Order: sequence, then structure tokens, then C-alpha cells
Amino acid sequence: MANMAEMPEGYAGEGFFATSLSKAVGLARANSLWPLPFATSCCGIEFMATMGSNYDLARFGMERLSFSPRQSDLLMVMGTISKKMGPVLKQVYTQMAEPKWVIAVGACASSGGIFDTYSVLQGIDKVIPVDVYVPGCPPRPEQIIDGIMKIQELVKNEPLRRRYSPEYQHLLEKYQIS
Ligand code: SF4
Repeated sequence: MANMAEMPEGYAGEGFFATSLSKAVGLARANSLWPLPFATSCCGIEFMATMGSNYDLARFGMERLSFSPRQSDLLMVMGTISKKMGPVLKQVYTQMAEPKWVIAVGACASSGGIFDTYSVLQGIDKVIPVDVYVPGCPPRPEQIIDGIMKIQELVKNEPLRRRYSPEYQHLLEKYQIS
């Protein structure tokens, strides 16, 4: 069953509600995330189960998946990422418009998982910044949903100016992203 989004902090009275712009924007962003699933292996199958009727990601009312980076703001990386795939992943990330967030779903995306080999990227945070890591090999759909809810918390509480801050610019510079 779909739930109403929680009201942000503010002042409510008879026929009115007032809050800060930052909280109103955070509420809107957190409840209108458009994920881009970047699925390369088994964790992607677990994500398909998360989308199915049993776990029903649609309960958030924001499960509109986008395979176009320009129309999405949540990059979900699911599966083993080889070193050759790293630049492709980075290109997808840079094509996404700000503000954008990233979830590394599963052990492979988070750390290379069991594939401690010459050809596998030992975590996508070697090439792009990550906001939430979901553990597991594979993580269960509940864990993927938990990861999305953690992203929602981050999005809700992100200051409006964060993307212009020197700290954020420094983070991007570290990844050589302009
Ligand atoms: S973490 Fe496990 S289930 Fe997920 S892609 Fe890697 S090997 Fe497959």
C-alpha cells in the first residue's frame, strides 16, 4: 500500500503549513528519484525481483526507471564491474545531471566481491563517488529497498547549496570529474 510522504519540520496551523525551501525541495527530490539501473550480473537479477510484484519497489511511487542518464538522478550499480567497464560507468555518471546520487548494490560493486583479480574493479568508488553501499552477495530485495530508503534520507537532508560547495567540488576533482 502506498504511504503518504512524511511532512518535513515546520509550522502547521489551520489551513497552512510553512517550512524552509531546503526541506520542501528535499522532500520533493527524495520522493521523485528516477533510478538508472546499471546491472552487469547476478545482483541485477536481484534488482529485477525487487521490481516485481512481491517486493514492489513501486510502493514508493517513484520507480520510473530510466536508461537515459540525462533523465535520471540515482545511479544503481549492480554487479561485477571490470576495469574495462570503469570508463563506461564514469561516462554514464558524468552524463547524469546534478543533483545525482549513487548506490553500490552488492559486494562486487562495493568492493570487487569475491573477484580479487587483475581484471575486476575493486569497488566502483575507484572511479565515481558513492553515497550508499548495500552489502551482500547478492543482497536480498529488502536490503536493496533499505539502500534506497537510506538514499532518500540523504536526499531529504542535503543542503541546497551542497553541490556548489568547495567540499563537493574537491570530491569531484579527486575523481577527475569536471
Ligand atoms: S555481489 Fe555476488 S551476486 Fe552480486 S554480482 Fe557479485 S557475485 Fe553476483
